[in-house]
Amino acid sequence: MTVETAAQGAYIVAALLFILALAGLSRHETARSGNALGIAGMAVALIATIALAVTRDIGTTGLGLLVAATLIGAAIGLHRAARVEMTGMPELIALLHSFVGLAAVLVGWNGYLHVEGDPDGTEAALLAGRDMLGIHGAEVVIGVFIGAVTFTGSIVAFLKLSGRVRSSPLMLPGKNALNIGALVVFVALTAWFVVAPSLWPLVAATVVALALGWHLVASIGGGDMPVVVSMLNSYSGWAAAAAGFLLENDLLIVTGALVGSSGAYLSFIMCKAMNRSFLSVIAGGFGIEAGPGGSEDHGEHREITASGVADLLLTAESVIITPGYGMAVAQAQHGVAALTSLLRERGVTVRFGIHPVAGRLPGHMNVLLAEAHVPYDIVLELDEINDDFAGTSVVLVIGANDTVNPAALDDPSSPIAGMPVLTVWEAGEVIVFKRSMAAGYAGVQNPLFFRENTAMLFGDAKERVDDILREVSATAPAS
Ligand code: NDP
Repeated sequence: MTVETAAQGAYIVAALLFILALAGLSRHETARSGNALGIAGMAVALIATIALAVTRDIGTTGLGLLVAATLIGAAIGLHRAARVEMTGMPELIALLHSFVGLAAVLVGWNGYLHVEGDPDGTEAALLAGRDMLGIHGAEVVIGVFIGAVTFTGSIVAFLKLSGRVRSSPLMLPGKNALNIGALVVFVALTAWFVVAPSLWPLVAATVVALALGWHLVASIGGGDMPVVVSMLNSYSGWAAAAAGFLLENDLLIVTGALVGSSGAYLSFIMCKAMNRSFLSVIAGGFGIEAGPGGSEDHGEHREITASGVADLLLTAESVIITPGYGMAVAQAQHGVAALTSLLRERGVTVRFGIHPVAGRLPGHMNVLLAEAHVPYDIVLELDEINDDFAGTSVVLVIGANDTVNPAALDDPSSPIAGMPVLTVWEAGEVIVFKRSMAAGYAGVQNPLFFRENTAMLFGDAKERVDDILREVSATAPAS
């Protein structure tokens, strides 16, 4: 058996492992094994690819570069993965997507330099003889285009998610015309390159795609960023698939298509959960008119102490906890889990209400609560719990803000208008844990904080939860 045949066999095994990994990752209980299958698939794919490259006479320099690139990439990956905080995952993912985009651009340019741009012309003549030169040209421009859109789009997403630039949407005049114009120019440049391959249409397509990627993501507001992350995930998959066509690598095509289609489906689900139009988000906020962002005076807010909250909890019949990004920042999940079991031991019904975009990752809150061993059966989704707030004694809003903002339902001019939110204000008492009166991720003030039945508990969520835990533990259970 040749190395070539063995590598093709290994690619099929790797592709199957990736499919099994996706299936495993779709459920809590099997997520860990899904992850392990994905790692195994990637290891098989890497070994097969390196073995193939070695047999293709790449010379000592080529081999040295391959080993150096693999070692440096692995070292950076391990270092970043070990250090990243859970709350920093979205920006790390966005940065990784930008690498996939950049790689696709480089593969596309390499394809051009090797075929159409090669003065020797051997490869080009070979492809022309098989009537494949035009197809190769289209693969080059499309690959570069998708890669470049993914590259700059992901960089802007990284800057927004890491707070390095403001998350509010960029509203250039005629932005929809700009996006459509860029697509039309891209189609024209592709046709030009296919008919008469040369440097200039490729340079122009690269520049247009870089600008389009930047504009598409810059035009999307903070509240819609979750969809952008999964959308860029999808784009990075298609960019990898495009690179796979150029490199004639079947595994890259299969893997890219898996990532591309699963990312597109996740974006679709998230759009449904947030009541957003899928097409409008893909098109860079097409038709979304952001409002001024709630600068009006909402009145006075009321404050409460940790011992006041402990008293409320001890007399409550039922409690719902709605965690958000602040719980992740404070790492308060273990204290929250301990408080939950203490209250349940004392006969209080405690449940969790999880908004689909709470935190900074799909499933962020579920992961944190699972890590703190909160039982799955008391962790409910928005649709499952929203009708129950009205009959609940106390709601603890722990570091959540946008996901409990009534303006999404009451104020059509709000940037988050139409997004389903947890209707916590329908409960008897609402306690909001946060450090200040600052706005949430979408940059809009929250009228919930000024409602009569809301009290603010200021400070770091972990410290305040620990204070309440101490108070509740010190109180003897009613006999
Ligand atoms: P938000 O991001 O809207 O608000 C979090 C709140 O936590 C802030 O108002 C902050 O207030 C408070 N906070 C921060 N640190 C602490 C701390 N140490 N202790 C106590 N409070 C703290 O949270 P939500 O989870 O409600 O909403 C998520 C937002 O993120 C949505 O807009 C969503 O669209 C967006 N998003 C979600 C993604 C996802 O996939 N889930 C991805 C990208 C964006 P203060 O500073 O006053 O303490």
